[in-house]
Parts: sequence; C-alpha cells; structure tokens
Amino acid sequence: MSTYDVAVVGGGIVGSAIARLLGGTALSVALVEARDDVGEGTSKANTAILHTGFDARPGTLESRLVARGHDLLGRYAEATGIPVERTGALLVAWTPEQLDALPGLRAKAERNGYTACQIVDATEVYRRVPALGAGALGGLTVPGESIICTWTTNLALAIDAVNRGVRLLRGHRVTAVHPGPDTTRLVTTAGELSARWVVNAAGLGSDVLDALFGHDRFTVTPRRGELLVFDKLARPLAPCIVLPVPSSAGKGVLVSPTIYGNVMVGPTAEDLTDRAATGTSEAGLEFLREKGAELMPRLMAEEVTATYAGLRASIGRDDYLIDLDAGQRYVLVGGIRSTGLTAGMAIAEHVADLLKGHLDITGRAALPAPPRMPNLGEAFPRPYQDAAAIAADPEYGRVVCFCERVTKGEIRDALASVIPPAGVEGLRRRTRAMNGRCQGFYCGARVREIFEGGAG
Ligand SMILES: Cc1cc2nc3c(=O)[nH]c(=O)nc-3n(C[C@H](O)[C@H](O)[C@H](O)COP(=O)(O)OP(=O)(O)OC[C@H]3O[C@@H](n4cnc5c(N)ncnc54)[C@H](O)[C@@H]3O)c2cc1C
Repeated sequence: MSTYDVAVVGGGIVGSAIARLLGGTALSVALVEARDDVGEGTSKANTAILHTGFDARPGTLESRLVARGHDLLGRYAEATGIPVERTGALLVAWTPEQLDALPGLRAKAERNGYTACQIVDATEVYRRVPALGAGALGGLTVPGESIICTWTTNLALAIDAVNRGVRLLRGHRVTAVHPGPDTTRLVTTAGELSARWVVNAAGLGSDVLDALFGHDRFTVTPRRGELLVFDKLARPLAPCIVLPVPSSAGKGVLVSPTIYGNVMVGPTAEDLTDRAATGTSEAGLEFLREKGAELMPRLMAEEVTATYAGLRASIGRDDYLIDLDAGQRYVLVGGIRSTGLTAGMAIAEHVADLLKGHLDITGRAALPAPPRMPNLGEAFPRPYQDAAAIAADPEYGRVVCFCERVTKGEIRDALASVIPPAGVEGLRRRTRAMNGRCQGFYCGARVREIFEGGAG
C-alpha cells in the first residue's frame, strides 16, 4: 500500500488545483478520482464564465476567493494557453424596480473590491447588444467578466499536477476511511492507500466523504442547471455576456457567447435529490426557450446545437465551507457551488494557507514549466488554419470532425498526452471533436475508430 503526505480526493477543478499547488512542494501527493477521467463532474458542465465576483456576498470567503481566482486563473490561462475571451458582461434592467437596483449592485461590486462597473442608459444597452429584446431600461457594465474553457482549465491543472510529481489515481472511488495516529487509510474501489493528510474536494460527494470522517454538518443538494447551446451562426447576436438582475431566486438566466463560438442560454436552477441527474428536461428547456424569447427573440430563430445540464453542489448556505480538522489531519472543501471554476486556484491557495502550520508547503526550487495546452477557443488560431503547422505535420491538415474542424493531429496528440482520455467523451473535451452541429453524427464512428487505435 502506497503512503502519501497528502491525498486529495476529487479530480475536478478544485481538487486538481489543490493537487497542483501541493505538488509544487516537497510533499508526496495523490489525486484520487472516482471516475475514469479528471473533469467528469460539475467541472465539465457549467456556464464557463471567469467571474469577477462583483455580485458575491461581500465579506464572504467566496467573495475573496472568486476575486483572487479571477486574477490567478486569468494569468494561468495566459501561461498555459487556456482560451479566455475578455468579452465583458452587461447586466440588463427590464423593469423600473430593476433599474432602481443598479446603483445598489454597483455599490455591492465596490464592496467586493470591483470598481469597474458603470451604469448605462437604454441607448447604450442597445448599442452594445443590438439583438436584445424590446423593453430594456438600462444596464450595468461588468467589463472583467470573461468566457473561458472549463475543460481545458481542469485538464491543465491536472496535467500540471502530474508533471510536478502528483500521482493521479483515476477509477479510485473512496468508499471508507480509517484515520490512525499518523496516517489515514483510504479504501477505494481499486485498492487502498494511506496518507498523512486528506483533502476532501469531492464536490457533489463531499458530504458523503465528510460523513466517513465522522462529521454530520451539511448535506449536498444537487441544484441542476440546464443550458441551451445555439449554432455558431448565432454568435454575432451575443457580443458579450448578458446578465439578468439577480433576485432572491439566484443569479437567473443569462445569454452568453461560448469559447467554442456558440451562444448559450441558461442555466435553470432546480433542486433535485439524484446526484447523477445530469440529463435535461422538457420543462427546463421550455422554460429556457421562453426566457430566451424575452431576452433575445432573434436567437430563438437559430438552430439549437446541443443541450446539457450540470449539478451545483449546493449546501444551503451562502458561502464555501472550508475547514481544517487538525485532530484527523483532514481538510473539507465543501459547498463550492457556482463559482468553483473561477475560484479553484484561489481555493487551493487558501487550503495551502490552512495547512501551513501543519506541513512544510515551501515551493520546490525547480518546477516544470506549466503545460502548453492545445487551443480549443474559436477566437484563436487552430491547427487546421496554420499552414506552417500543417507543412511540418500533415496530420494537422486532415480534418476528422468537420463541424468543429478538429484534425487527426489534434486527436493523436490528445491520445498521447500526459492524461489521455479514458473514452470518446474525454476526447471530446480535449479536442472539441463531436461537439458541433452534428454532435458526432458524421464523425463519431471515425473518432471512435481513431480512439480505439484502428486509424490508418
Ligand atoms: C450550471 C452550472 C453553471 C456554473 N457556472 C459557473 C461559471 O460560470 N463560473 C464558475 O466559476 N463556476 C461555475 N459553476 C460552478 C463550477 O462548475 C463548480 O463550482 C466547480 O466545477 C466545482 O468543482 P469541484 O472540483 O469542486 O467539483 P467537481 O468537478 O464535481 O469534482 C469533484 C470530483 O470528486 C469526485 N468524487 C466524488 N466523490 C468521490 C469519492 N468518494 N472518491 C473519489 N472521488 C470522488 C467526482 O467524481 C468529481 O470528479 C457552475 C456550475 C453549474 C452546475
């Protein structure tokens, strides 16, 4: 049985960020993930906005870590090639009450340390987003809100962790824990390991793991968010992220460009009991169509490319629940509900700060450079457009997925990467293959053939 200084449970964005940071020290670290791949949980299905934290609850840990995460991930994206588009957001007021709420929202943003918001009139709203539905009365600009690739973020962090020496254990669901005087024994579906410290970053499963440590302090409620993704031809309709004025019911439905060149409408917010219910529903999609028709009627005339749903790990409180239990050498990272993509790297810093008094987390002198990730962003050059790359390696000129223009060279690279995909779905998240208009109808068989090694 292997023994590590730290076992981080959960290979989503949060766990991968924590493992990466601790992997940069002299500590031995394992990243333990139940599924066959990293980034298969909530981190794969969200609205993929790099938030400023302008609308967080001031004074909360979440407010601080989202703001910090916005900077950290923004810089990390530049270093690794995670695509980010600095589109900015426009929060739109549709009623006199919402218009009256704008100064308060700007003041709240300032209490969160974000001072770039401006109130604009209806003329300016329509100048910025001409396709908006009729009736907008004014708006609040949030220039720092951006769109990002959540898939590449998760992968970059996990690959960086592995490059730094972290042992990635996929297909290892932790089913029991046995805390001892010096180490905790973790029983998983693929054998046992032990660790001096355990970090619980298990997302939707964090309360179950917490209970294995004997705690009874919160329950995760999966809050489903469904989304409609429109065809790339719709992209000019949404030059920036269009936000509603938040209400007590949550952040509400937004219209946003996606980093892959589409437009999305969503998410819904519906509390469920089934933590695996990532399917979409007729009622949810109908609701989004109605909302979309109000917000941007012209968008509803465009083709829908895909629908999807993600589950937020809601824990019935308005903040993260991050807590160190020194007696059991255990850290809970819970309630990372709807901002964890942005905050992940800052959460990792916070966890490292908590561990400081207990472990030597000094960074190692010579660390490998951050990985250079393949670009999945539509706004940036891709291999099929790069004559020099194609001349040097003709596989970058052989398109396999025609909707998304994914080449054989990119698929080959993904299959040979530090964390290769465990299935074609993982390949999709690494390349965009099968992610377009036909959703794999035309290229799916070929992609599977290449995945299974049958490609000529
Ligand atoms: C609809 C929606 C929209 C969102 N929009 C945004 C947004 O625009 N911007 C933003 O910043 N955030 C957004 N979020 C939030 C963000 O996606 C999450 O906060 C983030 O992905 C959480 O990451 P995580 O690592 O905590 O969880 P996950 O990605 O779920 O990772 C947890 C991992 O733990 C593993 N696991 C669970 N139990 C065990 C066990 N017993 N043993 C081993 N492994 C285990 C799971 O398999 C999973 O891979 C959104 C979320 C949703 C649902």
